[in-house]
Amino acid sequence: MAIDVMLERIDKLAEFGSSVITISGGEPMMHPQIFEIIERIRHHGMIAGLISNGYYFQPEKVKRLNEVGLDYLQISIDNVNPDDVSKKSLKVLDAKLINLRDYAKFKVNINSVVGGGVANPEEALIIANRAIALGFSSTVGVIHDSDGLNKGLTDREKEVYKEIKAKGTKSYARWNWFQDKIVDGGEYEWRCRAGARYLYVDEAGIVSWCSQQRGTPGIPLLEYTPADMEREYITEKWCAPTCTIQCVHQVGHLDAWRDPQISPTDYENRKGLKKETVAQILSAK
Ligand code: SF4
Repeated sequence: MAIDVMLERIDKLAEFGSSVITISGGEPMMHPQIFEIIERIRHHGMIAGLISNGYYFQPEKVKRLNEVGLDYLQISIDNVNPDDVSKKSLKVLDAKLINLRDYAKFKVNINSVVGGGVANPEEALIIANRAIALGFSSTVGVIHDSDGLNKGLTDREKEVYKEIKAKGTKSYARWNWFQDKIVDGGEYEWRCRAGARYLYVDEAGIVSWCSQQRGTPGIPLLEYTPADMEREYITEKWCAPTCTIQCVHQVGHLDAWRDPQISPTDYENRKGLKKETVAQILSAK
C-alpha cells in the first residue's frame, strides 16, 4: 500500500470526525512506513491502534511506536505451540511479549480464541494467564464462520470461555458481554451500526460493513458521504443476531439506546432517516 494512498484515506477519516483508526492486515508491522501512518493518525488527534501477529516487536520497534504515539495494540494468539493451522503461538511470541512488557508505553491486549478449529480449548486459558502475568489485558473471542456468525461451542469450550472472562482485567476490550448469550447458543438483540459508526476499509479503499461482510455497501472511502453513513446507521443487518465481531459490538454500544433500525426497503420508502421523538428514545430497549 503506497504511503500517499494511506495518508489520503486517514485524512478522509479525520474529516468524518473519526475517533479511532485501527490498522490491521495482513501484518501492519511489515509496512515500511507504519510509523509514519501512526503519526498521521495521531496528528489528527485520533486514537491509533494496531492489530498484529506479534512477530515484529523488537525493542527498537516498540520504542519507535512509543515515540509516534501508538495508543493500543492487540495481538491474537491462537495456540501454545505452533501447529499446521497457526504459527501465532505463545511459544513463538513470548520473547516479543516480554519486550512489550519492558518497553511499551501503549496498552497491550492479548486475545485468544475458542471455537471450531482450535484443537485444545485449555490453551486459551494458558494464553490468558500469561497475558495477565505480563501486565496486559486479556480477552477471549469466539471463532466465527466466514459470515461472522457463531458456529456453536462444546461444553468444555463454554467453560473455558467463562473462566477467562472471570479473570476480569479492566479494559474497553472487555465490552463483550454480548458473547455470553451467543456462547450459550442464543441470539443477541442489538443494533449493528457498521457502515456508520464503524467502517471497514479494505486494501482497495472500499468501505464494507465489516471484515466478514466485504462488498456491502462496497463504496470507495474517498466517495463515501454522510448520507451513506445515515443509511447504514439505520439499516438493520441480517447477520446481527449471532454476530461475533467484537469491535463492531463495542462501537454499537454507543447507540444501543436510540434509533431502532429498519429494513433497506423501509428506509427507501420513507426517504431517509426520520428522527425519533424523546418518548421513543426513552422506550427503546
Ligand atoms: S452484524 Fe454487523 S458486524 Fe456483525 S457480521 Fe453483520 S455487518 Fe458485520
